[in-house]
Amino acid sequence: MSRLLIIGCGGVAGVAIHKCCQNSDTFTEICIASRTKEKCDALKEKLEGTTKTKITTAKVDADKVEELISLMESYKPDAVLNVALPYQDLTIMDACLACKVDYIDTANYEPEDTDDPKWRAVYEKRCKEEGFTAYFDYSWQWAYKEKFEKAGITALLGSGFDPGVTSVFSAYALKHYFDEIDTIDILDCNGGDHGYPFATNFNPEINLREVSANGSYWENGHWVETKPMEIKREYNFPEVGRKDMYLLHHEEIESLAKNIPGVKRIRFFMTFGQSYLTHMKCLENVGMLSTSPILFEGKEIVPIQFLKALLPDPASLGPRTVGKTNIGCIFTGRKDGKEKTIYIYNVCDHQECYKEVGSQAISYTTGVPAMIGAALVLNKTYDRDGVFTVEEFDPDPFMDMLNKYGLPWVVVENPETVA
Ligand code: NDP
Repeated sequence: MSRLLIIGCGGVAGVAIHKCCQNSDTFTEICIASRTKEKCDALKEKLEGTTKTKITTAKVDADKVEELISLMESYKPDAVLNVALPYQDLTIMDACLACKVDYIDTANYEPEDTDDPKWRAVYEKRCKEEGFTAYFDYSWQWAYKEKFEKAGITALLGSGFDPGVTSVFSAYALKHYFDEIDTIDILDCNGGDHGYPFATNFNPEINLREVSANGSYWENGHWVETKPMEIKREYNFPEVGRKDMYLLHHEEIESLAKNIPGVKRIRFFMTFGQSYLTHMKCLENVGMLSTSPILFEGKEIVPIQFLKALLPDPASLGPRTVGKTNIGCIFTGRKDGKEKTIYIYNVCDHQECYKEVGSQAISYTTGVPAMIGAALVLNKTYDRDGVFTVEEFDPDPFMDMLNKYGLPWVVVENPETVA
């Protein structure tokens, strides 16, 4: 018997919860807790009667450690799956420490207020020392390593698709295909079309911050930073076709650089259409992507949060999105002294996802691995005290579950590479 507390009830959570309910042997009981309890209740109502998993719901403000602790003390979960926002990572980890409960998430910590002087001082020091300026990085959560070790609990960080599955693909490539990996190119292609002139596929605030920031990649032991969208390439994605893609900073580069021994270069590319980029640039130029509050008619508003209220809810894109995603990694390196290149990827169809769980493929490709990470921690397949990213565990059980729970992958030898 196991109990999982799931925090957040948005697009990704919706899929993770559906998938937990398909895996009732592992998830005998779940509690869905979020800021808006009505969303949790609606999902519970939808799923009850279709699953053996016992579902309860709760209201929680995950910014408040005391609220989280009192919820955990009353529900007594075996693990907590954080599918709220990266802003809540540290408060949820603090509560897990206090209650000695395992922790799983899909995105590394990022502060809500990037003007907070206390955070800013640490951030500016890190920019100088590390050489990349993204607002998010692993240092905040890696700092919990010793505390989690002492408490005898596991934190599994970044168990989404990217990071998450891309990290598992890297561990799998190293385990089965290479003696040494020289380069990793992570390619994230969304060939889907939702028919709106502009919308984001997951939380707009998190998404727009990520793609409007400087790009960066890891090369020969250090970060190389680029201007936003400075490096553009074209790639012919299997089952999707030829797309423009742009180099972005991405969090798994940071952990893979640490965990894939001897890797010389790691890059991350994401596809964007011209319309998306033009809209984003315009919104940025007029200040709509800012996270600093401004006074409007006597009331403080945060421009990007106001923009979020105007944009379509990512969870509503499901019925109208058609096409496929293709996300994967191209590895180069050596095996038994011979040069080798392989491509491991998954293709996911937006409409198939919608038929199965009522959401588009971006939430689906994140929610499935979130459930898998939680399952492997709950059933103690992944059981180490401390704070880890997914590539630090055996990739094989994760890869098996991807095939079983809707994200089958393929390995291609000698694929087209990226210049
Ligand atoms: P949504 O905005 O759809 O959902 C976020 C949920 O968190 C909402 O239910 C929201 O509640 C809840 N929430 C926000 N603040 C709090 C709070 N203080 N206390 C309690 N609940 C809160 O986001 P997504 O589902 O799109 O994304 C979820 C996570 O997945 C994010 O961290 C995102 O970065 C990550 N992600 C990871 C990917 C990967 O591949 N690794 C890819 C895509 C996303 P309310 O409904 O009241 O607003």
